[in-house]
Amino acid sequence: MAGAVAASMQFGTPPPSPAARRAPTFHADPAADARQLLGALLPPRPALHHVLQAHARLAVLGLATARALPQLLAALPRLPLAAAAASSHSYPLSLFRCASCASAFASNHLLRVLPHPLPLHLFPRLPRRNPHSFTFLLASLSNHLDADPAAAGSVSSRFMGTHVHALAVKAGAAGDLYMRNALIHFYGVCGDVAAMRKVFDELPLVRDVVTWNAVLAGYVRAGMVGVAREVFNGMPVRDEVSWSTVVGGYVKEGELEVALGVFKNMVVQGVKANEAAIVTALSAAAQLGLLEQGKFVHEVVKRAGMAMSVNLGAALVDMYSKCGSVAAAKEVFDAMPRRDVFAWNSMICGLATHGLGHDAVQLFEKFVSEGFCPTSITFVGVLNACSRTGLVDEGRWYFKLMAEKYGIEPEMEHYGCMVDLLSRAGLVQDAIELIEGMRIPPDPVLWGTVLSACKRHGLVDLGITVGNKLIELDPAHDGHYVLLASIYAKAKKWDEVRKVRKLMSNRGTSKSAGWSLMEAHGIVHKFLVGDMDHKDSVHIYNMLCMIDRRLAEAGYVPDVSSVLHDIGDEEKVHAIKVHSERLAIAYGFIVVEAGSPIRIVKNLSVCGDCHEFSKMVTKVFGREIVVRDGSRFHHMKDGKCSCHDYW
Ligand code: ZN
Ligand code: ZN
Repeated sequence: MAGAVAASMQFGTPPPSPAARRAPTFHADPAADARQLLGALLPPRPALHHVLQAHARLAVLGLATARALPQLLAALPRLPLAAAAASSHSYPLSLFRCASCASAFASNHLLRVLPHPLPLHLFPRLPRRNPHSFTFLLASLSNHLDADPAAAGSVSSRFMGTHVHALAVKAGAAGDLYMRNALIHFYGVCGDVAAMRKVFDELPLVRDVVTWNAVLAGYVRAGMVGVAREVFNGMPVRDEVSWSTVVGGYVKEGELEVALGVFKNMVVQGVKANEAAIVTALSAAAQLGLLEQGKFVHEVVKRAGMAMSVNLGAALVDMYSKCGSVAAAKEVFDAMPRRDVFAWNSMICGLATHGLGHDAVQLFEKFVSEGFCPTSITFVGVLNACSRTGLVDEGRWYFKLMAEKYGIEPEMEHYGCMVDLLSRAGLVQDAIELIEGMRIPPDPVLWGTVLSACKRHGLVDLGITVGNKLIELDPAHDGHYVLLASIYAKAKKWDEVRKVRKLMSNRGTSKSAGWSLMEAHGIVHKFLVGDMDHKDSVHIYNMLCMIDRRLAEAGYVPDVSSVLHDIGDEEKVHAIKVHSERLAIAYGFIVVEAGSPIRIVKNLSVCGDCHEFSKMVTKVFGREIVVRDGSRFHHMKDGKCSCHDYW
């Protein structure tokens, strides 16, 4: 067994087994007796211990002959790869060594049940082989590479696979459909799309849907979703695996809207979505933050009567919390028959981003009391919850607990939460000490948080020090200049304000373009600042005028301090009035039924004035607005926001 793989791959005639010579002969046909007895002893799906018991019984009766052994082999259950402890395989292997006359069926069974690399060692000694033997050998190799991406790129893995390929060609087995499918899968797993394509193109008539799916998966794995789509379009027959592979490919490449479009098309065409497609589509909806799309996928699950598996439940919880419906997330979570760490993490983080810090902390305690072990992500959720809810002592305690009890080294996200927590509470000096004591180089964002806190808490001198440090560290981010300038302005140091602005324009900082998404009746609308491209543009601007008039009557005055271009006040007011989320809100007034919340997804943080504006809208018009910005949710109702005006 211990010989080098390449050496053991010299396929000669198998050595005669000593067991064959020792076979007892005192029964007329012991093999037939053994077969009959095994049929009676073994349940339809025997476990390893059933096979062992049956073997013992045969031995007692003197029926454990070499010819009975292949039948025992064939009865062996498929051993899970994870349970690859050497001891659990010694039995099948010892059986095999005794079974000189193992049938090709029994041999192939062994290739399937044994974990990598045992099949490679065993293959040369197989007494009988057929084309399927090559297939099982290659499948064993591919499964191993699939589970270990580092091995997939290694030269030796490639070499072993191509060696099996060559042997199959020599044995005349390479034209077999199953063998071709296994080869395409193998080259796909290795990322060798050229070799994969070559096998695929060689025999256009020897293909089935599995062949096509293997090619699709290979291209998706290589990040070539465009080519995968061409292959998909050319497929004579598609099954649910083909569809879910393409959906997954688009999600992997970040083309989330296209992924959801393909998923919808699949449903429209009457293809029954499998769990993989559903989970991927849910993750696309979650990343986009589009509730209607997510609900559509959930409807598909309900209509198909799919059982709520752990994966599916976790994906639904994640989708609902990222799409702003934390109540629906909780409902799914509570109804899950079994939950894994992912589901708990999604729920804890979901509650935290929605500003429900106490609930998140309570859920964390329940999670621990049920015997689960928290992960790094769990603590991001818990610390986030503490920071959003102002639980300073609890936050410090959990931060310590994470490292001391669970051995989790704090990462940037954890530091981010703690700096946020301390800064919000006005403990700016503590936040600075935490950053300075970090074991990893701090992200400038952390200093940005401190700088905002300085502005908020009126710490002018500290703010000036931190602000100057920050524009050194991260000169391309215009937000830092804006903050520093506004701190100087607060101290009435007008010369300094001008200097900072000049520095900002000299360095040519660029602000990434802001956009807002709003979905209505299954269609996603995207707005940019001052956007005139929408087909209902005229109505939108009319609606915005009406909203502005009503808000002005209610006493709202625009705060233009967040507009820093050197333009006059009147222009500033105009610039702020057409921020993308306001256009989205105005369009929401036109297309979203009264009584339903207007849901908006923004790529950047909401500016201070749009936040005020939106809150005012909820008060004056009695509508609910839910905004998901870069890092959190703002649930606005009756003039108040769930973020307590701190973001
Ligand atoms: Zn704005
Ligand atoms: Zn808010």
